[in-house]
Amino acid sequence: SKVIFSGIQPTGTPHLGNYLGALYNWVQLQKSTDATIYYSIVDLHAITMPQNPATLRQAKIDMAKSLLACGIDPKRSVLFEQSKVKEHAELQWIFNCITPVGWLSRMTQWKSKLGTNTSSTHSQSLSDETLTTGLKMGLLDYPVLQAADILLYKATHVPVGEDQLQHLELTRDVATLFNKTFKTRLFPLPEAIVPPATKRIMSLRQPGSKMSKSDPSDQSRINLTDSPDEVQSKIARAQTDGIRGITFDPVNRPGVANLLSIQAELEGRTIEQVVEDFKSVQSNKELKDRVTEVIVEALKPIQAEMRRLDAGYVQQVLNDGADKARSVASENLHSCFKAIGLV
Ligand code: ATP
Ligand code: MG
Repeated sequence: SKVIFSGIQPTGTPHLGNYLGALYNWVQLQKSTDATIYYSIVDLHAITMPQNPATLRQAKIDMAKSLLACGIDPKRSVLFEQSKVKEHAELQWIFNCITPVGWLSRMTQWKSKLGTNTSSTHSQSLSDETLTTGLKMGLLDYPVLQAADILLYKATHVPVGEDQLQHLELTRDVATLFNKTFKTRLFPLPEAIVPPATKRIMSLRQPGSKMSKSDPSDQSRINLTDSPDEVQSKIARAQTDGIRGITFDPVNRPGVANLLSIQAELEGRTIEQVVEDFKSVQSNKELKDRVTEVIVEALKPIQAEMRRLDAGYVQQVLNDGADKARSVASENLHSCFKAIGLV
């Protein structure tokens, strides 16, 4: 039977990239499938990078609120905090014991973090620098935790943005490896569900990299909580180019292409249809005005719902979700322990 699992990190406010690459899909799947659905706020993933405790605690509640406001229905989907279900970390340990280190050091996200890290050398003493900087084991091992998240529920389908495809491939490899090692068919090989058109929304400041919650510049993204004025000023300042006319050319005109994608996606039209609208337009200004308008309209109902939801209700949803998730997780982990000989 079909089981869906996906997660989002409480590393900040969800943005338009999360919405178009993942969350919109999450909501639609509730209606278009009869699968059992798990959506998790993956706080154990968030702490692979330094987090302020008070900020993290608040970010988790805010994230849950945002997900509910986007249309996640707790009657339909199990919505829960990852750290409330201890089996995630336990299954990760099991997988750690069979996964070759080389599989992890090959991951492009790890390699890109390696590139920006300044203090990766091993230091003997526990200096202040060791406490705050340097790449941690958890960051290298993050995709194994992701494999555990997914396989703990024997998920068959995983709705994610394009940036997560390599990690999902690793999940399939880990599942295959486990099944072979212990001569079992315990774990299914999960498939990705990627939104068909715009898989990846790019940063407004550097359209060469993806829009991210953890990008230090708030100007780089449209948060789902941004006011109309903030949307207007961020889009007005979004990096484009001086080329006349509007064309969709992601390679040579990534900034313009990104705005066209956002508009097409939010309006439910094709890029070609949107480009056609701007046939006689010479400057980017008109495109930016239209995109602003479309984003502001799309955010309105989500923000109204965020204001309506109270923290007590949100906490109750998360607690109920954790109870439901835990009962399945513990049963599946038990089967896994049996296959290994731990019980
Ligand atoms: P962080 O910077 O902390 O990693 P993030 O913005 O990448 O945050 P995640 O919590 O890592 O968000 O990912 C949540 C979901 O959103 C994933 O399915 C991911 O594929 C998707 N996603 C993230 N960024 C984008 C983007 N720019 N375009 C499309 N999908 C995205
Ligand atoms: Mg990410």
